[in-house]
Amino acid sequence: VNRFINRLSGVLEREKRFSADAAHELRTPISALKIQLHNLGEEIGTEHDSYRQLQDGVERMQHLIEQLLSLYRTTPERFVNNCKLVDLCEVTQNQVAAMYDSFEHKNQKLELSEGSAFIEGDQFALETLISNLLSNANKYTPQGGSINVHIRELLDEVELVVEDSGPGIPDEEKARIFERFYRMDSAQQADRAPGCGLGLTIVAHIAELHHAQIVIEDSGFATGSAFKVLLKKKV
Ligand code: ADP
Repeated sequence: VNRFINRLSGVLEREKRFSADAAHELRTPISALKIQLHNLGEEIGTEHDSYRQLQDGVERMQHLIEQLLSLYRTTPERFVNNCKLVDLCEVTQNQVAAMYDSFEHKNQKLELSEGSAFIEGDQFALETLISNLLSNANKYTPQGGSINVHIRELLDEVELVVEDSGPGIPDEEKARIFERFYRMDSAQQADRAPGCGLGLTIVAHIAELHHAQIVIEDSGFATGSAFKVLLKKKV
């Protein structure tokens, strides 16, 4: 049995390495494609339907590759090496600032708690976790909606909550949305929010490395969801 388990973990390790290497190799041709696309736009103009479709396709591909790289970048070994004292409030504020234009573009009201809350973790991975939750809140919340981002210190934990006034997540979908490439087939996606169904898989993977727990609840708004991440507090 031990030999079988060893072989199985070897196969899984090789599968992960293959996906990470393939994604990495695809970065260069995608960059070349973007340059060619830019040149084509200069020649024929960027208003053509077919040009726009080509541009959407290239952008979707680039997003998928970056998400695949994110998923396999944070390994348990790297996590141990990168682990340090991190102020979760500061990291969150920086991510909100980086995405501010996207919220403003959709005229969304944003509330963010201040202060500081220290945990031990991989700063880069935590930035990815927060930015994926913020990006979903921004994507799935309609124009003019609200998004609250709170960080609270509990007894032994630090709680990060990203809540929005979007369509919310039905109970039967709560486990499935963390699966690889799963996207909810709801009417709310009729406006085709872009994505590849890997964002929450990455969030769950990073949370697991930090021994953190994720809970999805209803938001404090009339509609919408609250993604709660509970991380061990640094004492
Ligand atoms: P993506 O956003 O690329 O589709 P994710 O893994 O981040 O992939 O999310 C999976 C699915 O969960 C999304 O397709 C969407 O249906 C649903 N979802 C995630 N976050 C939210 C949210 N804040 N509000 C409503 N639905 C959400």
